[in-house]
Amino acid sequence: MTHPAMPLTPLPRGSVSALPPYVAGRAGQSETLTPLASNESHYLPLQSVLDVIARSGANINRYPDSGATALRERIAEHLAVPADEVAAGPGSVGVLQQIIVSLCDPGDEVVFAWRSFEAYPLLVTLAGARPVPVPLGPDEGHDLEAMAAAITDRTRIVLLCTPNNPTGVPISRAAIERLPHVLVVLDEAYVEYNTDPASANGIESYRNGQNVCVLRTFSKAYGLAGLRVGYAIARPPIAEALRKTAIPFGVSDLAQRAAIASLDAEREMRDRTARITSERDRVISRARAIGWAVPNSQANFIWIRADEDRRQKITKAFEEAAILVRGYTGDGVRVTLADPATNDRVLRVLAEMTGNGGAQ
Ligand SMILES: *Cc1c(COP(=O)(O)O)cnc(C)c1O
Repeated sequence: MTHPAMPLTPLPRGSVSALPPYVAGRAGQSETLTPLASNESHYLPLQSVLDVIARSGANINRYPDSGATALRERIAEHLAVPADEVAAGPGSVGVLQQIIVSLCDPGDEVVFAWRSFEAYPLLVTLAGARPVPVPLGPDEGHDLEAMAAAITDRTRIVLLCTPNNPTGVPISRAAIERLPHVLVVLDEAYVEYNTDPASANGIESYRNGQNVCVLRTFSKAYGLAGLRVGYAIARPPIAEALRKTAIPFGVSDLAQRAAIASLDAEREMRDRTARITSERDRVISRARAIGWAVPNSQANFIWIRADEDRRQKITKAFEEAAILVRGYTGDGVRVTLADPATNDRVLRVLAEMTGNGGAQ
């Protein structure tokens, strides 16, 4: 029931009203569809991590450590960087929002590739800054020359996603070294799955003194998407700005402790990612063998470029096989990889579409 005297003002400011709604991958809780739309880890959290979460549940009447001190120190040790150059936040998307808000005045520009992560144009616009999307190259990776050419004196950040979501293509080490002198934010949400030795490594660039800020997350390979914890490695002035712009107590005690326990279980985590990466390589070569032009993904998903008509057909074929994938209007379909049996179901759908039966 609406109140007759309810005023309709104030309205949200123009840049907010103009935003398209964020389209998240459909929730994976469905009991009938296999959720391959959100790049989550196929595996349940490690038992050691679940134990920590269960024990920490008893503390949730208390606020967490707002500085996430123990977690930042553990990350600093893990990556051999100073702890005051680590900033934790509610998912790496949360940290990215803080970076953009900290660095951009209205009208400033943020250059990023397109297609890339859907949150980028939203966060830039929300901060009052101007998104400058630069089309991907023919290999479905970043076109760094075109991105460099898009830099103006209003550019505050060049935002790179490596491996790129949704195409999976990483940025090469050689390309990263040629970047111009603006702040480069490297979103490495899928770095744990990257087995290509020629790829850029943000931490290495950071330690070499490049003007980069590295974003990483516990949501993907570490399997903690639901807990919301990610971090940035950033030079002291930016790290300090991130502490100032953080929503108070944004990372729960459960998330902080689970993230520490995950770093402590690094060996087991690596076994899991190795299973996914070998499956990824198998799926890509099999998909190519049956006629699909799948790019060189170094993440836990594959990308199928398709015009809108074909995209709808592909999405529908997966839905008929009770598999939920992520479609991008006019651009293509992204499919998250899982265990061998599930991946075989994916290959079967692809084989049926091209008339190349028998995906084994
Ligand atoms: C999933 C994803 C993230 C992670 O977001 P969180 O907020 O840490 O869950 C960040 N960047 C990209 C490109 C992603 O795909």
